[in-house]
Amino acid sequence: MAADRYDAVVIGAGHNGLCAAAYLARAGKKVGIFESRHEEAGAVHTSEATVPGFWHNLHAQYMEFIDYMPFYHDFDLPSFGARMIKPECQVGMAFEDGRPPLLIYTPEHADRTHRSLSYFSKHDADAFHEIRSKVMAKDREIAAMLYGARRPEAVVGELGRMWADIGMSPMDVTKPAKELIDRTFESTELRGVLYRQCLEWGADPHEGTGLAFVICCFWLCGIHYLVVGGTHMLGHAMAGACLREGVHLRYNRRVREITTRGGRATGIVLEDGTHVEADIVVSNLDIRTTFYDMVGEENITADMRDAVEGWRFGPEHCLGTPSFALHEPPDYKSARHDPDVNRCFYTIVGYETAEQVSEYILQAFGGRPPERPAAGTWVNTLWDPTQAPPGKHAMNGWFFFPKASDLSEAEWKDVRETYNARFLELWRRHAPNMTRENVIADALYTPLDIEREMGMPEGDFGRGRPKSLAALTTAESPGRRHGRTGIHGLYMCPGTGVSAAPGYVAFKSIAEDFGLPEVWKRDDRIY
Ligand SMILES: Cc1cc2nc3c(=O)[nH]c(=O)nc-3n(C[C@H](O)[C@H](O)[C@H](O)COP(=O)(O)OP(=O)(O)OC[C@H]3O[C@@H](n4cnc5c(N)ncnc54)[C@H](O)[C@@H]3O)c2cc1C
Repeated sequence: MAADRYDAVVIGAGHNGLCAAAYLARAGKKVGIFESRHEEAGAVHTSEATVPGFWHNLHAQYMEFIDYMPFYHDFDLPSFGARMIKPECQVGMAFEDGRPPLLIYTPEHADRTHRSLSYFSKHDADAFHEIRSKVMAKDREIAAMLYGARRPEAVVGELGRMWADIGMSPMDVTKPAKELIDRTFESTELRGVLYRQCLEWGADPHEGTGLAFVICCFWLCGIHYLVVGGTHMLGHAMAGACLREGVHLRYNRRVREITTRGGRATGIVLEDGTHVEADIVVSNLDIRTTFYDMVGEENITADMRDAVEGWRFGPEHCLGTPSFALHEPPDYKSARHDPDVNRCFYTIVGYETAEQVSEYILQAFGGRPPERPAAGTWVNTLWDPTQAPPGKHAMNGWFFFPKASDLSEAEWKDVRETYNARFLELWRRHAPNMTRENVIADALYTPLDIEREMGMPEGDFGRGRPKSLAALTTAESPGRRHGRTGIHGLYMCPGTGVSAAPGYVAFKSIAEDFGLPEVWKRDDRIY
């Protein structure tokens, strides 16, 4: 049956879909977003996962791109209720033996970071300070690689000079981040924290690219915000901005098909059979679902099929999220040397050495939950008491787990029922007040749950990646060609992390292809 007609339809109201829709509407298009769930923003999400009144971010926890994100600033998201807090002490590691914590502060507090790292190694403190200063001096250029549909020569040149200036050779780009970390730093504590920083971003420090050394260990390490009221408040603000621009936001509308004619997108079909016509279709979903399930294998070219076949889901982006409702926040043994560890935004718990972090990663990526139930932890109520009842605390964490299909349903059930208790025991050895009596309730959300709730294949929070680095960097695959696909009028914008970059880049490609006004341009922005 025929229904509406839009200039552009967006499949999925994830934050990237919302971003693309908001700009399209601002550029004068009639836009409809069709979302399968009952609410917007996908993995930009918060839930009362333990007990009513305790707010837990089951997916995105900390926001690192806020200062760079055009969507946030161009649409004045704070005016829609998005409010951010940036804790000074950003990344920490607490130790079971009670030695001083390792603490990394925001770049503005470089002296405090230097003081903390000096306890372990003066050499490391100096080297970290020097490299971070040089990387942060080029942070806008790094952001431009993410948000710029085209990479200006000048930006590439600047980044090349920065790479050399921090002591890297051109070949180092191909080396695993672990090799660069080990070559640059000598203390086991800092090495361990930096391996884990790579891991947070889905970069296996044992493999992959040396770029993770710059991006994960220096750029993204220490620039995180928490969202007041929980991560979902950011998603709601994004939806508010869309509504103000006149976007039609439709919930409980699962899309089942993308229609094409003669190599051009012509619209979508909803699960109930409704046909929605549009010249522009933007998919916020992963490449496999978009091409195989929605466009249909019979309608795609051999190139596209190769790209889909060359895509893999997990294990690097697969997480389990423990949620704990607490009477008291953790009081770490390491706090007797430096109380800031008790007010650190992101605290790593469960490792004494870098080797243990490395082994943990190998196990998680090797198909089994790691033996050592170590975690990255956040207690957002330390800054935002609204996220729990008065005087109480809400915690979330990250375990790195195998991909959803590596374990049977029964095995995931077992993990759900036992792994948090094992973590709590380890946590208590670091912070003696983390007893069972201090826990009001807890829950564990696994990659299988993420796959089912969010439709992220294998629970992969990046919605997959090309099999090879070359495919990623040369952007050979649909969905990485600045959002363009081989089908005229069909664009993709799924992404890794709450950057809103894929939505922004896809919009810029659409604007170029359809001659839309350049509504994103700002004199003070290089992307
Ligand atoms: C456990 C976990 C922790 C994370 N932590 C962080 C973090 O701390 N910081 C950070 O920056 N990032 C984090 N991320 C990653 C980040 O949340 C995601 O990369 C980001 O939210 C993806 O946004 P998106 O818009 O590309 O897609 P999604 O958020 O996946 O949105 C896709 C939307 O499409 C909808 N949809 C699916 N199928 C259909 C259909 N057939 N029809 C219509 N709609 C459909 C979905 O319901 C969803 O709303 C985390 C992710 C996970 C899973």
